[in-house]
Amino acid sequence: MRKYHGKGVCNTIAIGEAFVLKKQDTRIDSPVYSANSDIELKRFKKAKTLALKQTKALYDKAIQMNNKISADIFESHYMMLQDNGFNNCIKNYIKDESLNAEHAVFKALNLFSDRFKNLDDPYMRARHFDIKDICERLIACLQEKYISYSKLKYDCIVCANDITPGELINFDHSKLLGFAFSCGSVHSHTAILAKSLNIALSIHLGDGFLASVKNGDIIAINGYTGEVFVNPDDKTLKELNRIKTEEVLWHAKLDKLKGKTSKTLDGKKIRICANIATPNEIPAVINSDADGIGLVRSEFLYLGRDNFPTEDEQFLSYKTILEGMGSKNVIIRTLDIGSDKKVDYFNIPKEKNPAMGLRAIRICLKKPDILITQLRALYRASVYGNLSIMFPMITSVDETLSLIDICNKVKQALLSENIPFSNNVKIGLTIETPAAAIISDQLAKIVDFFSLGTNDLIQYTLACDRENSEVDKFLDKYHDAVFKLIEITAKNAQDSSIPVGICGDLAADTSVTEKLLKMGIDNLSVPASDVLNLRKTVRSIRLN
Ligand code: PEP
Ligand code: MG
Repeated sequence: MRKYHGKGVCNTIAIGEAFVLKKQDTRIDSPVYSANSDIELKRFKKAKTLALKQTKALYDKAIQMNNKISADIFESHYMMLQDNGFNNCIKNYIKDESLNAEHAVFKALNLFSDRFKNLDDPYMRARHFDIKDICERLIACLQEKYISYSKLKYDCIVCANDITPGELINFDHSKLLGFAFSCGSVHSHTAILAKSLNIALSIHLGDGFLASVKNGDIIAINGYTGEVFVNPDDKTLKELNRIKTEEVLWHAKLDKLKGKTSKTLDGKKIRICANIATPNEIPAVINSDADGIGLVRSEFLYLGRDNFPTEDEQFLSYKTILEGMGSKNVIIRTLDIGSDKKVDYFNIPKEKNPAMGLRAIRICLKKPDILITQLRALYRASVYGNLSIMFPMITSVDETLSLIDICNKVKQALLSENIPFSNNVKIGLTIETPAAAIISDQLAKIVDFFSLGTNDLIQYTLACDRENSEVDKFLDKYHDAVFKLIEITAKNAQDSSIPVGICGDLAADTSVTEKLLKMGIDNLSVPASDVLNLRKTVRSIRLN
């Protein structure tokens, strides 16, 4: 048995088989020549066969999932891999320039993607991402560095350096029990998503962990302490199973609170809602007995893919969420792309300081078409439930007015096209910058509700990158400055008679629930697995 000390992110125990994921690096900086072109041609042929097989498997999976758009993409990749012009170009580089197969593919990637990038039609222009995907797959196959998700076994623990939120979305969650990362960050969106899906996660396990673990090892994660055991002995397994049994009993006890209201001892009703990223989480929300959904991180629709989700595709997702929640309120936050949620096809230039750069509504105001498509899908879906729309990363009244103006124009356009939408959609703001909290008196006059995004509010107030584990100890979520900003926002919301909630991680921290409620916070939105625990706390608090 080997034991590693990490940081626990999700309070649960997981025991399963290791699936080791070592990331591929397909960049090739300088040309590599080969003296034997025949060997390189054979290597290319073998890699192409494998890439075709992988692409076909992805196509089949997309068909199984009824996802026509993804299926079309993989079909076009399959065709491109067989395209004579593309294949001959690679073979010629191998034969005429004596390049090795990887470099020949890399050179073809540059040539073909430049050709696509120079086309007038924006759709065709965007196809250079497909070329990049295909070539990266070929290079990974040549270097045998590919990730075969099909090898993911049931009940497995993914061991990696770290993964992106997009990669997390792409995993088959029914087979996944946990993640063990040598690096990672508690405040990253990968961590937030793992928590919301109740997948055990331990981070900061160190490089030694990844170097020594191999596929098939038994991994046990204690998400409460962050400890990770490789091939645990019987005594350790017995102890972890005991904790797991206690956990099951605790949840059975909490289940008794289902159907009860979240009222303080002196009768103040607090709405406790759930945070989600995808429609797949609706059953967990229903099972948690949440009062609604306080945050849909809609940007997850945009991650893990290489083109924009269409208006229809988004409409179907939002409709599924709204219908799933019946008459309960659902707050869908418009896309919060940027910072750690990077998407190549948005074509955002590389930034030195992405958390302070083009993020969320800043992208939407620069490229309004992206937002207009999302808003059209949202308003069209609004007739299927009780929708509120929330804008992230607000810092000023002017940008809020511009966003409201775009909403009005979208509604006007739908009206003229005879497309129905609800007239009761509320507009709110995520208060997650100190600027927004300080001017919340002005903002409260122009919107219907506030929801404090404490994850970002903490990082921006304390000038600490939430992704950088080096500054973790400065990222003090209990800092007075943070609570003062929450208090200011709550007071200004109350003065304007609009509701004010919290949808950041602080909402689930029961050690501060009483303090937050006493400041006037009237709703809290947390991962579905935390709803009943929070209800239990709220029911034990006296406000006056
Ligand atoms: C927040 O910042 O607290 C929040 C809810 O949004 P996210 O964590 O997605 O940035
Ligand atoms: Mg945020």
